[in-house]
Amino acid sequence: MRKSNLQKIDELRQAVKIAVDNFIMGLFPGGLPEFYFDVLSYRGIVKHNITGSGFNFPWTNKRPTNADVEKIEKYCNRFMPTAENIFLYYMAKYSDGLGGVSGAIKVGDLTLDKGRSFVESDLFPRLAELKEKYEPRPGYIQCQYCGQQRLPADIIQDTVISPNWKNQGYKSPPRNYCKDKPCAGYDQMAHEG
Ligand SMILES: [Zn+2]
Repeated sequence: MRKSNLQKIDELRQAVKIAVDNFIMGLFPGGLPEFYFDVLSYRGIVKHNITGSGFNFPWTNKRPTNADVEKIEKYCNRFMPTAENIFLYYMAKYSDGLGGVSGAIKVGDLTLDKGRSFVESDLFPRLAELKEKYEPRPGYIQCQYCGQQRLPADIIQDTVISPNWKNQGYKSPPRNYCKDKPCAGYDQMAHEG
């Protein structure tokens, strides 16, 4: 029996899936990890349930032409699984227990320098560092550009010129910035858009 174009595309997809599965097995010999964790702010570490893996595949409608099959064949022949084109699907619950988010993340983005790990405790030093820098605490002033908490002695005040303050002669009220970093200048540039 002759194969339909849809069947041909299905076989191509299966072949890519096998390559992807092998790649994932190489990365995670014990199977997909159950969770990954990320720390994107001082507020804490978010736990994500890993629900599966995936890859990009060209979309076709229900009646693919021969040209479609050829295009997909080319895509599949070139396809090499890498950390940049394989995704893990995840679900994360909000800490208030109400609702959550789901999505997909590139395997290549699951690295410690991006604040992510499969092992929660790997992120404790990063969290401590973020808390030290950014968590509001009495006696400190927040830099209005970088958000860091600084001692008053390490803060300077400056103004920004911007249409945001048109009614005050384009000049902002005094704003707080790190004294030892170019935060004031960067904030001015940010307001120039
Ligand atoms: Zn700053």
